[in-house]
Amino acid sequence: MHVAVIIAAGGRGTRFGGTLPKQWLSLAGQTLLQRSVAAFDRHREVHEIVVVLPADAMDADAPTPLPPTSTTKSMRYVAGGSRRQDSVANGFAALSAEADIVLVHDAARPLVSDAVISRTIAAAAESGAAIAAVPVHDTVKQAEEKDGHPFIARTLPRETLHLAQTPQGFRREVLAQAIAQGGAADVTDEAGWAERAGYPVRLVVGDPDNMKITTERDLARAEKLLDTGGASRAPVLRIGNGYDLHRLVEGRPLILGGVQIPYERGLIGHSDADAVCHAVTDAILGAANLGDIGRLFPDTDPRWKDANSLVLLRDAYDRVAAAGWLVVNIDIVVIAQKPKLSPYADAIRESLAGALQTSADAIGFKGKTNEGVDAIGRGEAIAVHAVALLTAR
Ligand code: MG
Repeated sequence: MHVAVIIAAGGRGTRFGGTLPKQWLSLAGQTLLQRSVAAFDRHREVHEIVVVLPADAMDADAPTPLPPTSTTKSMRYVAGGSRRQDSVANGFAALSAEADIVLVHDAARPLVSDAVISRTIAAAAESGAAIAAVPVHDTVKQAEEKDGHPFIARTLPRETLHLAQTPQGFRREVLAQAIAQGGAADVTDEAGWAERAGYPVRLVVGDPDNMKITTERDLARAEKLLDTGGASRAPVLRIGNGYDLHRLVEGRPLILGGVQIPYERGLIGHSDADAVCHAVTDAILGAANLGDIGRLFPDTDPRWKDANSLVLLRDAYDRVAAAGWLVVNIDIVVIAQKPKLSPYADAIRESLAGALQTSADAIGFKGKTNEGVDAIGRGEAIAVHAVALLTAR
């Protein structure tokens, strides 16, 4: 997967009554644009950065500094158009042929986190189009004018309302179609194009700190967040540890991480005995302090007889997410004398990433033998260790 980001900084809006477009405002020593570029430059899943600037900002004698060119990624500047959507279309035209996931990010959101970027990439790859958004907590009233005053026309159902943020992510062909079909219409974000072109657009969990800086007050708040850096920007993290072992017997399929692996024997247990899923389930439940797999899915319950453990993992993850946690990463060690697991590592990582609503990049997987020692070394069983790191959403 080749991920590109278009950073929209083509606006001329000065907003604060000054003369400097807001992408060049300084936030704790760096411009908003520099900070936005840096957020994607340091993200491991992003390969390519296209920055769309006002045309005159690209002149050699422009008074404003451009962000330094990335040292690790392909990066280029292109001139924007008169409207935001024209700028994004120009950025899209400048993408390399390899880009298959395209993110669009607003330069005025300099505090976007790694986790929000990862979630948008994973959901866009899976669903075609996805945006970061935060739920609305206030009750929302729609107003209408009467006798020269605003009155409430109706109360909107808050549970369904979200505030759109960026990044907004698309499979390349989806954004291409959206631009082709919706490009002429005035929209305030790229999801609006995709919606007009008839594509479903998924919402992923954004971050209240990923604010759009449009007022002096926003800038002051962002400075405070960076200042107190330590305190308010430090993520709340929880670690969890999981372990499982099942015996290998003839006449059973070998399933690890939801992937069936060709082998003459398989693991035996009440469910499908997928020891990878079981260890990961215990790791995420442990990190969230939600008990363990035996308590949630007891092997005395006929519902879990021959159960698909990937479904159990997904169920456990839903509980973990409902308790306010998201997966940062998972690391897995499988101890199996045989078979060799490395050819299946990527398929297992993808499969687990799907169940955990994250990207395969967040899943580490290693196979080890037991050097012929003990029951595992004699090929009588397979054991799995897993650790999970969670962050508060
Ligand atoms: Mg087990």
